Order: sequence, then structure tokens, then C-alpha cells
Amino acid sequence: MAVSKTQPLEHIVALYEQGQRLFGENRVQELTTKYEALPKDIEWHLIGHLQTNKVKYIAPFISMIHAVDSWDLIVEIEKQASKSNRMIDCLLQFYIASEETKFGLSYEEAAQIVTQIQAMNFQHVHICGVMGMATNTDDEVQIRNEFRTLHGYFTQMKQDFFSDASHFKEISMGMSGDWEIALSEGSTLLRIGSILFP
Ligand SMILES: *Cc1c(COP(=O)(O)O)cnc(C)c1O
Repeated sequence: MAVSKTQPLEHIVALYEQGQRLFGENRVQELTTKYEALPKDIEWHLIGHLQTNKVKYIAPFISMIHAVDSWDLIVEIEKQASKSNRMIDCLLQFYIASEETKFGLSYEEAAQIVTQIQAMNFQHVHICGVMGMATNTDDEVQIRNEFRTLHGYFTQMKQDFFSDASHFKEISMGMSGDWEIALSEGSTLLRIGSILFP
């Protein structure tokens, strides 16, 4: 995925003209403005923290929400997706970094959320996998360990809740600075921003 946050439209169009169709943004306002201005065959992912009261603005068009980190948020996504008569793909954001500020769930919290989703039989969200951000550090051993932890959560979730669900297959990890480590640890979805743009 090309992460186009803060990039002007012409930079996005330049990548689009080379064939890129998957873009990610981290702010709802910026995302909706770009969605309206750009070609409609672009697939948009929201990768940043999402407030419940903003889900309604993106529900009509978003294809994947990467950073689901609470029960209230997934309930609102189900509600708004239902209003738009859509299915929205979601990833559960796990806390893997050693930094205080990063959002994300523990395995127990995620398991509780998925148990409730399955009990209530949500019809408008697909939980498609997991997402995480490694610590911003030069220590490659630490980064690799954090990605390995996320892969472990994916495997455990698959086994505990999604063994029959073919759509549960994504591990969203890796950015410009750590994508090679992420790829070697099994990333299925790299979120690449700064190194793609001038
Ligand atoms: C900005 C951002 C990226 C991309 O970061 P780069 O270092 O520019 O590649 C990936 N994931 C998230 C959640 C981001 O906010």
C-alpha cells in the first residue's frame, strides 16, 4: 500500500498513473477530501487511529480500516456499514511496541472483542487480520521480535477464532524504515509512505 498522508494530489496522481490503486491515509478529513478529488477506482485504507464519531464519514467508501482497537469502534463500524449497505474489512490493531503512546490491543482484549462479534453475528464487518507498528528504533533485533510477536498473535487468532474463515489472512506490518524486516517476518500488507514520494 502507498501511504499518501500529507502528500499533495499531484503526487498521488503520479503514482496512480504508474498503476498504483491502493492508498492509505491516517486522517479522516484528509482522506475524504482526497477520495472526492481522485479517481473512483482507487481503493482506500484508513491506517490511523479512528474516533467513533468519524466512522460515518468514511463508511460509504472505505475498503479497509486497519486500526480497530476497541469494542465501541467495531460496533459503530458495523452500524455505519449497515446503513451504507456495505461490508467493511477491518484489522485488529495489536500493541507490540515498547512506546507508551502507541494504540493497540492485548491478545486478551482482542479475543474478547472477537468473541462478542461472533456471538452477535455481525453482517457488515469482516475481521481480515491483524495490524501493528514496531517501536521507532534502530535496534533491528527489537523490531524483528515485535513483528514476530504480531505474527504470533495472527496465528493464535486464526487458530482460536478464524480457522474456517478464508478472509482472515492479513498481517499489516512494515513501513519505509522497517519493511524488509516485516516482509521476512511474514507481512502480507506493507504500509509504505515516505520512500515512495519525492
Ligand atoms: C505514516 C504511516 C505509515 C508510513 O510511514 P513511512 O515511514 O512514511 O513509510 C505506515 N503506517 C502508519 C500507521 C502510518 O501512520
